[in-house]
Amino acid sequence: MSHSNISIFVPHIGCPCKCSFCNQFSITKQHYSPKSDDVDKAVFEALKSKKYNAKEAEIAFFGGSFTAIDREYMTELLSAAKRHIDNGNVSGIRISTRPDFIDNEILDILKEFDVTSIELGAQSMRDEVLFLNNRGHSASDVYNSSKLIKEYGFELGLQMMTGLYGDDDEGAVFTANEFVKLEPKTVRIYPTIVLNDTFLADKFNNGEYAPQTVNEAVKLCTRLIPIFENAGIDIIRLGLHTIDANEYVAGPWHPAFSELCENEIYKNIILPKLDEKGNYTVSVARGEVSKAIGQKRSNIIYFETLGYKVKIKEDKDIYPRSVKIERE
Ligand code: SF4
Repeated sequence: MSHSNISIFVPHIGCPCKCSFCNQFSITKQHYSPKSDDVDKAVFEALKSKKYNAKEAEIAFFGGSFTAIDREYMTELLSAAKRHIDNGNVSGIRISTRPDFIDNEILDILKEFDVTSIELGAQSMRDEVLFLNNRGHSASDVYNSSKLIKEYGFELGLQMMTGLYGDDDEGAVFTANEFVKLEPKTVRIYPTIVLNDTFLADKFNNGEYAPQTVNEAVKLCTRLIPIFENAGIDIIRLGLHTIDANEYVAGPWHPAFSELCENEIYKNIILPKLDEKGNYTVSVARGEVSKAIGQKRSNIIYFETLGYKVKIKEDKDIYPRSVKIERE
């Protein structure tokens, strides 16, 4: 996603149910519904930045169930956003919503207001997982709405979660493979975090739910990443960026979660190529050295415990995720 994106959070309003993991207020830290003035203010604020690029920037309505909110209010926000497209301040509008709040009538409205991209919070493609987490929709809603969104010519984005109540690694891999069949342009992957005042917090506190550890979530995500990359789908978010420490109860949150996954991917690429114990030089693509070394040299230390002394160096002729191994 472009760095110039202007995010407007529309918390909770319009949600027909409270999902097991969701505590929107703690994610957005916002307790009121934004108005058209807030859209204008956010755009004008963004315009002040020297790095702002109107040709790439989009207004992103995130955080709730955008197409489930009151129509008048939805069109008020969309009108404000469209004015900024018409006068060249931004290039488009992104929205995120629930799969069961997409139909022809809604998509006609979104087209009229020049919405470019629609992200669906699908979370899982297993009905039993959706049910257990009180999502209030089924996997068939995701199939049907994704198909309709693409027929209308919108860019499709899909969001999934790992470690949901009642899910497992194979369930997440199944979800990823089903996503690929729907041909989204982008995906977001969020390991489930337990927040205060949620169904999952209750389940966790009474011992009925154990969230993934950081290590488990990293290992699973390193299985999911190639599924999307091999299908040419952009992973635009891996893990929550920030979290309110006061709301955090448990779960695999890490400030550099995405980097941990990159480190694990390189570990898995390099390890099978190391043969007899000894010293090795591993060449990787430009800009990939720190990923191969790992956070706090974790990969180097891990290789050492197995009897391999590994040096990592850069080679401009090597592609990302490829390595050249030389024994010294
Ligand atoms: S639909 Fe989205 S915003 Fe609404 S309760 Fe569920 S996760 Fe939260």
